Amino acid sequence: MRGEGLALSTGSWALACCLASCGGLALGAERGPEARAWRYELRIDDALSRLEVDVCFEGPAPPVLAPIDRRGRRFLRSADGPLGPDAAPLPRDADVVFTAHLPPDACVRYVVDLDAAARQRGGITGAYRVGDDLIASTTVWLWAPRPRAPDARASARFTLPEGVVVSPLWPRDAERWYLDARAFELEAFAAFGRFEVRHVGVPGACLHVSLLGRRVAMGHDALSASLARSAGAAALLFGRFPVSEASILAVPTPLSTTSPFGVVGRGTLPTVAILVGEQAAPERLERAWVPVHEFSHLAVPLIERDDAWLSEGLATYYQEILRARAGLIAPEEAWRNLDDGFARGRAGGTGRSLADESRDMRRTAAYRRVYWAGAAIALAADVELRARGARSLDDALAELHACCHGGARPMPGRDAIERLDAASDGVFGRVARAALGSSELLPLERTYRRLGLSHRADGSLAFDDAPDARALRDAITSPPAALDDVPPCGPWYARP
Ligand SMILES: [Zn+2]
Repeated sequence: MRGEGLALSTGSWALACCLASCGGLALGAERGPEARAWRYELRIDDALSRLEVDVCFEGPAPPVLAPIDRRGRRFLRSADGPLGPDAAPLPRDADVVFTAHLPPDACVRYVVDLDAAARQRGGITGAYRVGDDLIASTTVWLWAPRPRAPDARASARFTLPEGVVVSPLWPRDAERWYLDARAFELEAFAAFGRFEVRHVGVPGACLHVSLLGRRVAMGHDALSASLARSAGAAALLFGRFPVSEASILAVPTPLSTTSPFGVVGRGTLPTVAILVGEQAAPERLERAWVPVHEFSHLAVPLIERDDAWLSEGLATYYQEILRARAGLIAPEEAWRNLDDGFARGRAGGTGRSLADESRDMRRTAAYRRVYWAGAAIALAADVELRARGARSLDDALAELHACCHGGARPMPGRDAIERLDAASDGVFGRVARAALGSSELLPLERTYRRLGLSHRADGSLAFDDAPDARALRDAITSPPAALDDVPPCGPWYARP
C-alpha cells in the first residue's frame, strides 16, 4: 500500500457556514471582511496526548472554526471563547464551532485529544505512536477559520515540553511558523517528540529528515544516507529534486518488509512519511521502490483523487525508471519490474473502464489495476515521444511542473492532460484517452517492439540488442546530462 495525502473538501463547512449565518447574517459583503490575520499558539503536553490551541483573530471573528478535514471533528474535546474572564464554551454542532458572535480581535481556545486520534486505525495517515514519538496529520488537529479571506495571513508558535520538537511542517523563523492557503486546504504530516532532525542536501533541494521512534538497526547515519540516495534518484527526472525543500518522516516499523508504505502530504511544505523496517539493511532500503515512488509524486502537481491513474501511474513508472537511472537497480531489473507490474495490472481490476476504476479505487481496492494501467500509459507516451525525436515524458512533466506545481487545490486530471498534451504535441492525451475508456490495460505490443522487449516461451522478458531498440532503452534509463548543485543545508530558520 502507498498513497498520497488528501486534498480536503470544503463541502463539510459550506453547509455549516450557512447555519452559522442564519438569523439574517449572510456571508460575504454584509458580514464585512473576515479576520486578516490569525495567530495560533499551540501547546502540547509531555505525554503528547493533548494539544491545546489558542487562535486569535485580528479584526472581526470568522463565522466558524472548522477542522481542515471532517475526520478531525471526532477529536475535539472543548472549544471556549472569547478568552478572558467571560470565557464560555462556544456553540457547536457536529462539524464546526460557531464564532460569528465573538467581538473583534477575540481569541478562542480549542483542545484536541491526540490520544483518541492515535487509538483510531488511521496509521500514519491519522495519528500514530512511533515509540515515544507521535505522528499526527494536520487533519487531526488543525482547525481553521472559515471562510478564509483570500489575503488572510496565519502564523503559529509552538510551546513544547523540554526536549520535545515538531518536525518541519511550515516555513518558519526563530519565533513563528507561517501558514499559507495550502496549510488549510491540503493534508500535511507532522511529528512531535524527542527525535533527531537531520538536514540532508540532494541536487537542488534540502530535505529535513525526522528520525522517529526506536533506533533502526542500520543507525541514523545509514538511514539518512539511504533516504538521500532515494531522493537523489528522484532528482534524475528534472536534474534536481522536484521541490526545493521537503520534510521527510522516517518511521521505523517492526514489519519485516524493507519499506512497506509511504504517504505524501502537500501542505505549505511537502511532507513525506516513509515506513522503514527496523531490521532493514541500508543497501536494501536504498534499492526499495517505496521512497522513490513517494518522492516522484512531488514531480507532479497534486491531482484530483478521481484521477489517481495519472498521479499513481506516473509515480509507478518513474519508481522503476529513476532507480535504474541512479544505478540503484540494473536497467534490466527495471524493465522486468515494469513488465511484471503490467501483468499484475492486467490480472487486477473489476471490469470497469480505467476512468471508472480510478474513481472507484478506494471502494473496490483495484489499486494494482489503476497504478499499473497508469504506468503503461506513461511508458507508451514516453516511447512514442522519444521515437519521434526531440522530446520525452520527462520534458512534458517538467512543463506541467513549471506551470502548476504548488497550488492549494488539486488539479483536475483533464487539465493536467491538456497541459501534457500541449507539451507533447498531443501524444500524452491520445494515449491516455484510449486507455481511460477501456476496461483492458493499454496494449503495449508496439511499445515493446520499439524497445526490443519480448516474452520467451516461459514468459520471461527477452531483450533485443538491435541498435535502435537498445538506444531507446538506454535513453530512458540514462540520467540527465546535468544536475543542479547540492545546496548547503541546515535548519532554514537558522540559515543566514
Ligand atoms: Zn503513490
